[in-house]
Amino acid sequence: MNHVEIMMLDKKTRIVLWQCLVEVIEEYITNVNQARVAPYLDADKIRSLLNSITFTKSIDPLQALNFVVKGLWDYQMHVANPQYFGLFNPSPTTMGIAADALVAAFNPQLATWSHSPFAVEVEQHLIRFFASQFGYNSEKIDGTFTSGGTEANHTALLTALTHKFPKFAQRGLRGLDTLPKLYVSTESHHSLIRTARSCGLGVEAVQQIPVDDSLQMKVDVLIEQIAKDRDVGFAPFLVAATAGTTNAGVVDHIKRIADVAEKEKLWFHVDAAWGGAIVFVTEMRNVLEGIERSDSITFDTHKWLNVPMGAGLFLTRHPEILLRTFSIEADYMPKDALGLNVVDPYIRSLQCSRRFIGLKVFLSLAVAGWNGYSTVIRHQVKMGDLLRQELKKSGWKIVNQTKLPVVCFVDQQRPEGKSVEFVESIAQGVVSSGKAWISTTRLKQNIPVLRACITNYRTEPEDIHALVHVLNETRQAFYSKIRQT
Ligand SMILES: *Cc1c(COP(=O)(O)O)cnc(C)c1O
Repeated sequence: MNHVEIMMLDKKTRIVLWQCLVEVIEEYITNVNQARVAPYLDADKIRSLLNSITFTKSIDPLQALNFVVKGLWDYQMHVANPQYFGLFNPSPTTMGIAADALVAAFNPQLATWSHSPFAVEVEQHLIRFFASQFGYNSEKIDGTFTSGGTEANHTALLTALTHKFPKFAQRGLRGLDTLPKLYVSTESHHSLIRTARSCGLGVEAVQQIPVDDSLQMKVDVLIEQIAKDRDVGFAPFLVAATAGTTNAGVVDHIKRIADVAEKEKLWFHVDAAWGGAIVFVTEMRNVLEGIERSDSITFDTHKWLNVPMGAGLFLTRHPEILLRTFSIEADYMPKDALGLNVVDPYIRSLQCSRRFIGLKVFLSLAVAGWNGYSTVIRHQVKMGDLLRQELKKSGWKIVNQTKLPVVCFVDQQRPEGKSVEFVESIAQGVVSSGKAWISTTRLKQNIPVLRACITNYRTEPEDIHALVHVLNETRQAFYSKIRQT
């Protein structure tokens, strides 16, 4: 093989490879519902398999493909299985899978507009669309696609710092007279804390506000804390509300927090990474009321919009702020688009060389349409209601209040049903059965609960019944075991 064929392979091999790829994908999405949901966690076995590939001699393309396909089938959490009741990792849309393959082949570079005018405009079109759905004035906004919610939250902190502290971009935190402080609830996503670290603020700059019994940020405590912090010389600059907590799908009091932010002149960020998708359901979008008053929004399309990872969005109603935060001059970057009234993505983003993230969203949304997504999200909400209803019938107690399909529960038949040992043992029993996947978490940082989320649009009533059945069996086994000891 010559130097080109080493990379591209010959045409005959390519054709066979593409066909094989298509078959592998089709077989996966057809048969994933028969797979064990959770993989066996055998690191030694996986490493010894990999040790057979030493890169010293080349292997046949189909053999290589089959090797990884088997590895993925055997050692992966099959989140596309309808009985994965897990974190916000959906079964990907078919159009999203096609989009990612196309993107790999065309490989558009989204650093500059002039390298990929179509791709950049597709993303801008989507940014305007989502911004207006969240109630922003789509003429006066900006946004960027991100690798996920973590990068979007990171972007929020950086833009807020740039906005609130004019010296920050030049002099960094050293340029500030007072220490910045930001506010999140104790139920907010950990990425906000980690992000504070990577912005140089440190964890201590994050004030975690306690939540009330409904797991929403206590707004009166927020107000008191801001006053206290000002008194001792801190500079409060940002408050983040969560619209759909990772733990329990709870939405903070967005409007009341917006009022506080306005009065205190704080940047108001809404982390709607998962819950933002409820905007597609007309009769439920009031759950997000007040989000239009935010300065910025995190929305992950790789969660409830079911596109393959990683596809997050950062939206802001400050049209210049991304540029002010990220712009830089670099002599080697192409300037072909000067004077065309367009903006290069790389000066509005944490990333430079960037994949065409927006295509999987564009193709999925274009083909499903607005109504298609409404149908899907409504179905999942309904499955959440069914799960709550079925759990209650079997003596489980729902401990979170939300209309969104995340269900946190304990057992109320016996006092042990609220213990850490119980919830851990039940989750483990369900997971090791291979039939379903659920998890445990702690609410208010100390109440142990079981957690099941309708993550997958393929989840049907029979899957809910199957889950409740496994739960009941596992519970019975737990109680008979402690009775014996
Ligand atoms: C998932 C999630 C994030 C983080 O997003 P990634 O895409 O995993 O980086 C942030 N906030 C909330 C509320 C989330 O649910």
